[in-house]
Amino acid sequence: MQKSRWGSCSAKGNLNFNCLLVLMPPEVLDSVVVHELVHRHHMNHSRAFFDEVISIYPEYKKWDKWLKKNGGVFLARH
Ligand SMILES: [Zn+2]
Repeated sequence: MQKSRWGSCSAKGNLNFNCLLVLMPPEVLDSVVVHELVHRHHMNHSRAFFDEVISIYPEYKKWDKWLKKNGGVFLARH
């Protein structure tokens, strides 16, 4: 069970996603998928990482904010 993240990307490039994401708006899942895919290029949260995320998914910030605001309801862990 993933405790702290909605998705993860291992050093080998394997992607894992929290199954609760399927209950959310599809845009949220898209934003998490893009986030993890970009970690294949940048294993950090640098400026370059976010520049690439936003170039792929311009609405990323909107849905990241949504997830931060509403995600706790799904996880009940905050
Ligand atoms: Zn990340």
